[in-house]
Amino acid sequence: MKKFNLFVSLFAALLMTACSAPQQENVSPADKVLLKDFRPLVVNNIPVTKVDRAKFDIIDMHAHDYAATEEEIAQWCKTMDEVGVLNTAVMHCSWIGRPFEEVVAAYAPYKDHFRFWCCFDYSDMSEAGIQKACELLVRYHDELGAVGVGELGDKGEGDLYARPVEGKDIHIDDPRIKPLIAKCAELRMPVSIHIAEPYWMYLPMDETNDGLVNAVTWHVDTTGCLGYNALVNTFENAVRDNPNTIFIACHYLNMNHDLPRLGAMLDKYPNMYIDIAARVAESAHTPRATREFLIKYQDRVLFGTDNGMDPQMYRNIFRVLESNDEHFYIPDYGYHWALSGFNLPDEVLKKLYHDNAARILNEYR
Ligand SMILES: [Zn+2]
Repeated sequence: MKKFNLFVSLFAALLMTACSAPQQENVSPADKVLLKDFRPLVVNNIPVTKVDRAKFDIIDMHAHDYAATEEEIAQWCKTMDEVGVLNTAVMHCSWIGRPFEEVVAAYAPYKDHFRFWCCFDYSDMSEAGIQKACELLVRYHDELGAVGVGELGDKGEGDLYARPVEGKDIHIDDPRIKPLIAKCAELRMPVSIHIAEPYWMYLPMDETNDGLVNAVTWHVDTTGCLGYNALVNTFENAVRDNPNTIFIACHYLNMNHDLPRLGAMLDKYPNMYIDIAARVAESAHTPRATREFLIKYQDRVLFGTDNGMDPQMYRNIFRVLESNDEHFYIPDYGYHWALSGFNLPDEVLKKLYHDNAARILNEYR
């Protein structure tokens, strides 16, 4: 009996040692996973919707000169035909692509599939120089078929996306460029502009930052330049002071975190539109609020991608807009948020995919 007790105690002690060893080191497997490496796999038995082709024809209002060769342009057209995109904006800006004339020439054999957007020329900011820039804009419109201006881009230091020179310290409400914006109204060319960045990118890069993984990559240092609200103000000034010009705020005006504020601006300014380009994650982690917003502002929202030419890229966006799927991830997307679909009604989808853009570009079919 005594011997048995001793054996039991010894066994129990060994067992305790074995079970408690990791706790003594005080490290669990979860402690070793970095947020940036987080690649969760969904285990829920819930619907998974594949949308190979968009439910309605699409006009893509936000893309760039991604194709480096004629073969790539041809392949891009094939992909567009497969996924249901009628035509795509090739937006000219300084961080990607070649001079505007070269872009237009390169895509000319496939011009049915593309619409060209040019920049403002800030080479000479004198009054006479801006007049020349207006003349260039007319030439781009009349001779090269430019349908709009963009993508302009201001993250605090001015329109640094511009070509052939950057618009350092030139914000969209700068009185010097008012003639250019008025010329856009005359030519019926919408102005598409990227203002600021998602709000998480301005917040401290710490454990409280809800968008941390992506915010770290795109963190904005506002030292010596305009911050988030100041930039939004420049945009609002321009929209208010140029009511005959159509403005498209790219990427939901980077205001996914405050849809009531964005909605109030759309209520106030009938010449303001937004595109949804490259903000899948920022919108699909709040699917109910975003769905409600897109339904309410169904006449003011434009489809855009801004994310290359891969067929799966389009299909990921279709799944978010069309399906009612919940809690899914897009592999290697750079976010740790789970996404859910918006299950948008057909009439809203059709406007967002096509009709609103067709109206702005005078392109009914
Ligand atoms: Zn873009």
